[in-house]
Amino acid sequence: MKKFIVANWKMIPLRAEAKALVEQLTSKVLAATNLPQIVICPPYPYLTFVQEMFSGAPIALGAQDCSSHEEGSFTGEVSVTMLKECGCQYVIIGHSERRHYHQESEEILRQKVEQALKQDLTVIFCVGESKLQRENEETYAVIKRQLEALPEKISHAPLVIAYEPVWAIGTGLTASFDDIKNAHDFIKGCMKKIEQETPVLYGGSVTGENAQEILSLDNVDGVLVGRASLNMESFWKICVA
Ligand code: PEP
Repeated sequence: MKKFIVANWKMIPLRAEAKALVEQLTSKVLAATNLPQIVICPPYPYLTFVQEMFSGAPIALGAQDCSSHEEGSFTGEVSVTMLKECGCQYVIIGHSERRHYHQESEEILRQKVEQALKQDLTVIFCVGESKLQRENEETYAVIKRQLEALPEKISHAPLVIAYEPVWAIGTGLTASFDDIKNAHDFIKGCMKKIEQETPVLYGGSVTGENAQEILSLDNVDGVLVGRASLNMESFWKICVA
């Protein structure tokens, strides 16, 4: 199975920067072989032009979030149908920044996943413990609870789990290889129980420097990259790691 390299651009690059990043990435991808599955998740307003700029390069488009509603009077929300129309194949759901800053509950996340699956979008579902939960040795209980928010009829659905310890996101701290390995084993075990052979990605301060070692861990099927995806030199190092 190809590894996944997912770029989460968050609310950071403006149009000119986004354009430059895609230009550089597309020309590198078109000249390369044997690449992982690269997924770029730009802010909503850039989805369409980023997709157009891929111009046939094997790069997939993803959104950073979606609405839990199908359609209607939900000001400011973006439906999965709209994402599909923009060319998205993937959607990130349950990123810790959404859980934390937007108080997204397990119930809301379950509804979002259901919406995404209705449109055949591959869900990149984020789980991970906070610093306090880790200190209280609650890591596995937290991951288990977060995974339980997935809809019951998830078996064989297009789903990727991203293990992103909250304390490692944007902090420069990465989980130790043992922590990553154990958490990924635990997640894969939980997913097997609901008949899912799910790829599990690691996210949290992945860089061009540490990507190779992380990606070479047995049960790491890819990485979700925030800051380092906004520097094409670093991001490309990760893609070829
Ligand atoms: C993220 O936003 O999902 C993330 C992992 O960010 P960073 O790589 O900057 O830690």
